[in-house]
Amino acid sequence: MNRKEQILELIAKGYNSVKTLAEHFGVSLMTIYRDVRELEREGKIIRRHGELLLKKEEEKQVQEIGVCAYCGKLSDKRLEFVYRLTGKTVYACCAHCGLLLFKELQGNEVQSCMTRDFISGNPINCFSAWYVVDSSAVPCCSPSAIAFGNKEDAEKFAKGFGGKVFDFESAVQVVEELMKRGQKVVFEVR
Ligand SMILES: [Zn+2]
Ligand SMILES: [Zn+2]
Repeated sequence: MNRKEQILELIAKGYNSVKTLAEHFGVSLMTIYRDVRELEREGKIIRRHGELLLKKEEEKQVQEIGVCAYCGKLSDKRLEFVYRLTGKTVYACCAHCGLLLFKELQGNEVQSCMTRDFISGNPINCFSAWYVVDSSAVPCCSPSAIAFGNKEDAEKFAKGFGGKVFDFESAVQVVEELMKRGQKVVFEVR
């Protein structure tokens, strides 16, 4: 167990100040401050009037888990699309749903959209990302759309797993087309 994990346990046991934690570990106040700040940033603890408190489980979940506005799946941190609109946040489980959702959001003021680079996991802007659509890799919904921060990575991925590389606007069109074609066609027998 690393020190940050131990700190979480100790806070739960009532070690609620930086000073008592520093004394417990025999390290400087600065060292503990650094850990505490990281834990705060990770959303695991909060500081109230100098007191360290664990962030409640349910508060954390509301913040971290979104339900896909398109298909209703719980969104996966690694793949999700997060649209920020004026006054609300809309989640999609993956780029497939995120792209399909885009048209439905029109009329709303979309302030930003964030997703993650499939390779590094770093946050990227959905609108400037590149998408590999309809590859054989299907981490969430099908036909899959996978986001990359740069075009070369997307192209390399498409070489290995198939699919084609598109920018945001084209990816929206293509996924929509594929969904239409994927629908069952019913022939009437006369
Ligand atoms: Zn979805
Ligand atoms: Zn999905």
